Amino acid sequence: MNRKYISEKADRLHKNCRVILLSNVKALVIGDHDTYDVIKLSYRWSCNCQWGRFKSHWTDCSHVVAVRKALQDPASQAPVARLAEIIHDALHSPNGRRSA
Ligand SMILES: [Zn+2]
Repeated sequence: MNRKYISEKADRLHKNCRVILLSNVKALVIGDHDTYDVIKLSYRWSCNCQWGRFKSHWTDCSHVVAVRKALQDPASQAPVARLAEIIHDALHSPNGRRSA
């Protein structure tokens, strides 16, 4: 995995509308193998994938890069805007809450 590969993968995630912005500090990225939480901690984005946990000091994972691309191109969010609403409602409704 190199930087070019990460960038290409991020482009693919972004173009296929697999980035769901829940807020300006929280996003979900539907990856090839799992769905990842990408969260902004103070000034930088962090991701809960293997790469994000162990190699993010070297370079951001494709998920973080895809979120950055999505933030720069809000029009790409249109197809999933409704889905984001549904997920948001599910997470915040009393029935969907697992623990406080
Ligand atoms: Zn990641």
